[in-house]
Amino acid sequence: MNEIKNDWSKEEILEIYNKPLMELLYEAATEHRRYHDPNTVQVSTLVSIKTGGCPEDCGYCPQAARYHTDIEGNELMSVQQVKAQALRAKSSGSSRVCMGAAWRNVKDGPEFDQVLEMVRTINKLDMEVCCTLGMVTENQAKRLAEAGLYAYNHNLDSSEEYYKEVISTRGYEDRLQTIDNVRKTNVTVCSGGIIGMGERVEDRAGMLVALSSLSPHPESVPINALVAVEGTPLEGQEPVSIWEMVRMVATTRIVMPFTQVRLSAGRTQMTKEGQAMCFFAGANSIFAGDKLLTTPNPDVNEDMELFKSLGLKPQKPFIKKTQPKTVEAEDSEYQDLGEKPRWSRPNHHIERNKETAVKNLIDGEMAKKSNARGQ
Ligand code: SF4
Repeated sequence: MNEIKNDWSKEEILEIYNKPLMELLYEAATEHRRYHDPNTVQVSTLVSIKTGGCPEDCGYCPQAARYHTDIEGNELMSVQQVKAQALRAKSSGSSRVCMGAAWRNVKDGPEFDQVLEMVRTINKLDMEVCCTLGMVTENQAKRLAEAGLYAYNHNLDSSEEYYKEVISTRGYEDRLQTIDNVRKTNVTVCSGGIIGMGERVEDRAGMLVALSSLSPHPESVPINALVAVEGTPLEGQEPVSIWEMVRMVATTRIVMPFTQVRLSAGRTQMTKEGQAMCFFAGANSIFAGDKLLTTPNPDVNEDMELFKSLGLKPQKPFIKKTQPKTVEAEDSEYQDLGEKPRWSRPNHHIERNKETAVKNLIDGEMAKKSNARGQ
């Protein structure tokens, strides 16, 4: 039995990951029962409040402006639109709404003020509110906390070494700095990563070392399986096997036993039996709804049928922590500082990202020419 520890080595984590599967499952399920009700799963709904047009070059992401994918972009949604989606999610059993905006970082100004209003509105619906908005400064994190934010999502994606093979426009250090800024408030941290991007098992272990060295551990760790989207640099990646997913979930559960481990992107590629095995291995949170930010997800009804056959029930909000209080904009203690933080641009050289961006540029020019000829 492990106590909560923050000094896991990569070797220790690899030893767990590579155990005979039945032993790994047994150990993970045992740890799971120490801190969680094994028959309860948190259901979160993801709302893409601003889709596409992102200046970053994350190799897996169809929202990056430089890759030509089929996603339809949209400007920042209104507070009323988001409220309507939150109410729908609540009536289908979700206890948490996660709002995602395709931004590099938060910029002070009217759009951020609108997001703060969304946070106030959803917190007043007695749902946990989470945001994923890119990098945030300490003052911005405090303003989100004051509005009633429950969790902030900022994924580490992979190990520090492999991160440089996937994203060139921002650095791992800035990810950690954002998490640190959030930790200076009472907002909980949600941070995880993606497997199946071509990384080695050592990189998966490296990511878990980085996450588990955060003190306290992130309250929530999403484990995504890459959904290879056409038009992105990672479009040719083979899907990960269910065994890899189960091993990753079980290892995360053992390394961070108190954390909610979330099955995120890639659930459509799993059978119901595969998902059940992930729940047994310690996953206790899912995203509901037919779409994640931009990739497909199982339908809510399918999830509820699966819950019924497995005897699982959706987790109620605020069972891990009390509901934050919402401070209205006019009573706010933290002001819009008009901050222009200088987050780094490390510019790692990633051949496949460059090739994809150039190919998309050429395709775009050719499409423009042929449209012009047709007019
Ligand atoms: S993952 Fe986020 S930061 Fe990266 S390109 Fe997509 S929207 Fe932008």
